Amino acid sequence: MPRIIGIDLGTTNSLVAYVDEKIGLPRVIPDERGRVLLPSVVSFTPEGILVGEDARRQLVRRADATVYSVKRLMGRSYDDVKDELKYLPFTIVPGDGIVRIQAGGREVTPPEVSAVVLRALKDRAERAFDEPIEKAVVTVPAYFNDSQRQATRDAGRIAGLDVVRIVNEPTAASLAYGLDRLEHGIVAVYDLGGGTFDISILRVQEGIFEVLATNGDTHLGGDDFDRVLMLWLLEDVQARHHRELEGCGINLARDNDAMQELRLAAEAAKIRLSTEERTGLTLPFGEFTYRREITRADIERLIEPLVQKTLGPCRMALKDAGLGPDGIDEVVLVGGSTRVPLVRRRVQELFRKPPHSHLNPEEVVALGAAVQAGILAGGIRDMLLLDVTPLSLGIETLGGIVGVLIARNTTIPTSARELFTTSADGQTVVDMHVVQGERELAKDCRSLARFELRGIDPMPAGMPKIEVTFLIDADGLLQVTAKELRTGKAASIVVKPTYGLTEADVERMIEDSFTYAEADVETRLTIEARNEADTVITHVRRALAQAAHLTDAAERARIETALAELLRARGGDDRDLIIEKTTEVNRATERLAEAMMDAALRGAIESRRADEIMESS
Ligand code: ADP
Ligand code: MG
Repeated sequence: MPRIIGIDLGTTNSLVAYVDEKIGLPRVIPDERGRVLLPSVVSFTPEGILVGEDARRQLVRRADATVYSVKRLMGRSYDDVKDELKYLPFTIVPGDGIVRIQAGGREVTPPEVSAVVLRALKDRAERAFDEPIEKAVVTVPAYFNDSQRQATRDAGRIAGLDVVRIVNEPTAASLAYGLDRLEHGIVAVYDLGGGTFDISILRVQEGIFEVLATNGDTHLGGDDFDRVLMLWLLEDVQARHHRELEGCGINLARDNDAMQELRLAAEAAKIRLSTEERTGLTLPFGEFTYRREITRADIERLIEPLVQKTLGPCRMALKDAGLGPDGIDEVVLVGGSTRVPLVRRRVQELFRKPPHSHLNPEEVVALGAAVQAGILAGGIRDMLLLDVTPLSLGIETLGGIVGVLIARNTTIPTSARELFTTSADGQTVVDMHVVQGERELAKDCRSLARFELRGIDPMPAGMPKIEVTFLIDADGLLQVTAKELRTGKAASIVVKPTYGLTEADVERMIEDSFTYAEADVETRLTIEARNEADTVITHVRRALAQAAHLTDAAERARIETALAELLRARGGDDRDLIIEKTTEVNRATERLAEAMMDAALRGAIESRRADEIMESS
């Protein structure tokens, strides 16, 4: 039985998982360094394509070559994403139906970018099992339309993966918790990630899942938590250190490096505050060092309005599903941001029951994808998964009006059939225009496909009987067939929803990805070594500037020499030399690092004491 892996292709992070047959449980697969999350970031540098953490480090340095949040662009046209452009720093241009992204002097499509992420996960799995992997289950948000699902499938093909099933993320999360074993129940899946919020209400009945309603906010997530905390810290730095800042003429808000540091510090503090009541923050700014303590109460006050913003969509989803909070039997938490205690409290208050949260909320979708993969491979449980169509599907009829064949929220797989006719005498060709959306006029809906039905015998208007069939399979993909019934020799045509990528495009992209692959591994390792060197150089320089009083002349000289050698090595292409020199700098600074750590600890204790004194006075 060929192995099938489960992949969560996320907006911020992606993961791969499999079912361990020995214990019958899903597990995520870490990379060589033990990291489970792969940031969904791809950087097209002159030296090669970088993905994951390596690409994420290029976000500031090579902003024009680095693509993130590409999931927002999958299977979408320029018109679809117009409102999205202001959030994305890279250049997006209208393509043939779909958008294209300009990055590092190339033009790529969203499926090609996602394919780089998928390939990295495929490679990771192949290394783990030491065997080729060709099949995968990939998850998508429940509200993804046909084009977005098809684009996801194409991304798999470009990466050399046959996407055997596309599963909705909330369904996957429920599967990971084994909720398919409920005889009957209603499940609410609350998913708060880095940049998106989704709420889905599912019905489970004898192992069958049905999406009753979905809602959410496509621009709300942990990144917003980071942002409010960062702005608050910025104000605080400016208030406490305005004299130093004025003295050296620094405008922090305009200083990209300083803002980047502040953002990273904010996210790190946020994450610590999910498990700790208070945490210290130390930020060196060259001329001065900013220190402060942040409490759980501080961050909760800041993010409360954002957490409240998730509750409206929850209430709307309940309303769409025709349920009150008491109608929900199980609540499942998904996404890294649901680790925030305030989020858990508010969700529990709204649904009036403790949510399922013992599985890692960042991993739970991938784990569920693996369970589905296990089912398909025949290894575990027997089950059918049902979902619903997120939007109505129909065809354009006379006067540009939409004739709906499959209404929104219909359970899939499903099919529908309807008869149409011609509007002009002697008409031999009918133009079929398949659309998706809730609006009356075709021009206001999303155009999915156009094709012609030819070869109709000339007849008076209204005489031909044209039968149109819509079929949606278990993956949510649509097939449209049109057939003229009156004449014996019926003509029929089948369309796959298109969104701009032709079969030939996909083939070419598959070939391209193979050409890049080999060069990419070598350059990746060199770039990783350089990145590591850069990090060390920055830290050591800062340490030397800040902690001059903690070193003597001899130690300083040793560090400066090692640093100069590393800088020289970093300029060249000799990877081993870069690694060797980085190690030497690390060794030369060991003592200083320890001394600084001690000093920082003392600083934290002192500042805590100062705060306590202030509070008690
Ligand atoms: P996505 O589904 O968008 O790919 P994830 O589910 O991986 O995103 O969530 C990423 C977000 O989770 C980031 O904003 C990250 O800061 C946040 N996050 C991760 N761990 C924690 C934690 N322990 N506490 C608070 N937020 C966290
Ligand atoms: Mg996610």
